[in-house]
Amino acid sequence: MAPQREWLERDFYADLGVSSDATAEQIKKAYRKLARELHPDANPGDTAAEERFKRVSEAHSVLADDEKRKEYDEMRKLMAGGRYRADGTGGGGFPGGFSGGGGAGGFDIGDLFGGGGGAGGADLGDVFGGLFGGGGGGRTRGASTSPRQRRGNDLETETTLAFRDAVQGTTVQLRVTSPSPCTNCHGSGAKPGTSPRTCASCSGSGFISRDQGHFGFSEPCPDCQGTGTKIDDPCRDCSGSGITVRPRTINVRVPQGVEDGQRIRLAGQGEAGRRGAPSGDLYVTVHVMADKVFSRNGNDLKVELPVSFSELVLGATVSVPTLDGSVGVKIPAGTSDGRTLRLKNRGVPKRAGGAGDLLVTVKVSVPSKLDDSATQALKAYAEAEKASGFDPRDGWAR
Ligand SMILES: [Zn+2]
Ligand SMILES: [Zn+2]
Repeated sequence: MAPQREWLERDFYADLGVSSDATAEQIKKAYRKLARELHPDANPGDTAAEERFKRVSEAHSVLADDEKRKEYDEMRKLMAGGRYRADGTGGGGFPGGFSGGGGAGGFDIGDLFGGGGGAGGADLGDVFGGLFGGGGGGRTRGASTSPRQRRGNDLETETTLAFRDAVQGTTVQLRVTSPSPCTNCHGSGAKPGTSPRTCASCSGSGFISRDQGHFGFSEPCPDCQGTGTKIDDPCRDCSGSGITVRPRTINVRVPQGVEDGQRIRLAGQGEAGRRGAPSGDLYVTVHVMADKVFSRNGNDLKVELPVSFSELVLGATVSVPTLDGSVGVKIPAGTSDGRTLRLKNRGVPKRAGGAGDLLVTVKVSVPSKLDDSATQALKAYAEAEKASGFDPRDGWAR
């Protein structure tokens, strides 16, 4: 049973008014209560109640089924990152903080539901600010908005890249389901054609002052909940919040040279703020899959090169794979097994220009079977070797 695409756009826990770690018993209780209240028989002709009744029933059908619930939870975790950080904790900054995990891993989020579609995409070039965390800073950004306008929460998500994509840079599509600016009212919360008006109680400041003894206090305006504006005619899609939860597709340009576990910050791609307040940021943790040929140490690429004994003894020129093809490597005569040869500038491209090195480690491959003539030749060689005085265990002698 595959998860359904529609699940993404729904918060079944919110529909039932329970937390995401609610027990089966709590879910059952919440459902029974809501079902009684909203049942069409109890609300004849009330289409809003009927609609809610439908949603509650759907939510229950998923959350009451252990297997479906598990799938739904996994999907949510994957899609939205799920790790909402409370506002005000600062930008974290790579590479500390974020504790990986998320299970699943190993597959491309963009592919999961066929990618494509959705919003976003085109305008991402300039969104890709503050590469690699850089920590903090973001909190008080957005000079055009007044301080009381709470910025949306940051989001966390992750993506897995093939080794070579990570080395050379690539673009990935992320699908994120999160609170986004309502498309109907463009985030204002007011019914299209109308606008929020300035709150009279606080003159739009969002705060009211109170004097108590010698002290003056400032507290959020209770009339407008600190937003500074009031909406007479709320938008029907978002009930005046300016936010709807919906899936978005985001194209993320991953720069060359990212390493496993690095985080990329996408400024303004987190949760939308209420009523047009600035969005939070989206943090993408990058996982990098292992490669069959290469491994990495910072900007240096490493490759193990199988060679024969005679190639090491006599010297040879051997073709070695590189990121963009291959290169002929000269093995000097008399090279020891396990020696590492360094090829300048054949490694991981650096963002500042240039590249790391390619480290080629030779490793003798021993034939498990030889034909007669090779065996004869090798026996003759062994005799000649002994006669020449070569003793591999010479150092052990005394
Ligand atoms: Zn709206
Ligand atoms: Zn007010």
